[in-house]
Amino acid sequence: TRQWRLASRPTGEPTRENFDLVTVDRPEPESGEVLVKTRYQSVDPYMRGRMRDEESYAEPWAVGEPMGAAVVGEVVESEADALDEGDVVTGNLLWAEHAVADADALRRVDPDRGPVSTALGVLGMPGVTAYFGTLDVAEPQPGDTVVVSAAAGAVGSVAGQLARLSGARVVGTAGSDEKVDWLTDDLGFDEAINYDETDDLSGAMAEACPDGIDVYFDNVGGPITDAVWPLLNVRSRVAVCGQIALYNATAVPTGPRKLGKLVESRARVEGFLVGDYEGRWDEALDRLSAFVRDGRIRYRENVVEGFENAPDAFLGLFEGENVGKQLVRVGDP
Ligand code: NDP
Repeated sequence: TRQWRLASRPTGEPTRENFDLVTVDRPEPESGEVLVKTRYQSVDPYMRGRMRDEESYAEPWAVGEPMGAAVVGEVVESEADALDEGDVVTGNLLWAEHAVADADALRRVDPDRGPVSTALGVLGMPGVTAYFGTLDVAEPQPGDTVVVSAAAGAVGSVAGQLARLSGARVVGTAGSDEKVDWLTDDLGFDEAINYDETDDLSGAMAEACPDGIDVYFDNVGGPITDAVWPLLNVRSRVAVCGQIALYNATAVPTGPRKLGKLVESRARVEGFLVGDYEGRWDEALDRLSAFVRDGRIRYRENVVEGFENAPDAFLGLFEGENVGKQLVRVGDP
């Protein structure tokens, strides 16, 4: 069975050289554990932070060791009462075709509820992030103007739709015309800006938000945040979810910019971590799955075929290759 290991720590943009594919013996479960065969592996932007040797909310990965990932897989051997062979489960395992885990650390996925891959996207960590970031932190109100960056991604697409369900007017930013069309034609965003095709991002943002901005759900930072900031309304809220535009930066271009606007607007800027909502995960999943079932929330998945291509799927996040949730489908080893 195969695993991807961290070969070296990247400087700036990661490359395939930073990853090493190794073949190892299939691990064996001990009492209370199960052996899981991966069907889908998630790749996520936070993994860039774990490649760095720095203190963060997530431990850095060790060079030469297998890397961690959320997966959906099938129990193929069980030494635990709670799970049987054939059960489909999700949890934080490894970039691996097989991994052993404590049964307690896994959540059962009901295949009758829909495609099991959704447990890594709209009905998994990204969906839950969007749920609490939007409803708990950003708190959009009817009539508000909400801007979501990386709006066609796993988190952003759900955050924007939730804001719309709250009665807000929603504007998204994304890096291609295909994404912009998906946001406005399928997901009900009121407007979307292709930031990559715009010479005057500030002008485009002002035009899309004639009444200013009440909520900014930020996944990106950098120039998109610069374009949002001057438009923040009085008592607006900024939910800082991620800053992917800066994850590969070797030096941050400047300090925090345009903060003077916070004085005038009395805006609240608040970062959050999905991990803080562990006890409320079921609440989010119950509501999100009801929204998905009745079509009020739509989703897409960008599935990269083959375990051997997992690093490319990860690197693709920084190129904006994914529409919706970026996943790796792992075939039979
Ligand atoms: P996405 O599915 O949104 O994929 C990343 C997207 O970011 C790409 O598709 C790309 O889209 C965009 N992007 C990449 N580089 C840049 C850049 N330099 N400038 C602008 N856009 C860029 O990933 P997720 O939905 O999984 O994550 C979105 C954000 O949420 C990340 O910042 C992540 O770290 C954060 N996050 C935070 C959590 C928390 O607990 N706070 C939990 C989960 C995620 P495009 O084509 O539009 O450029």
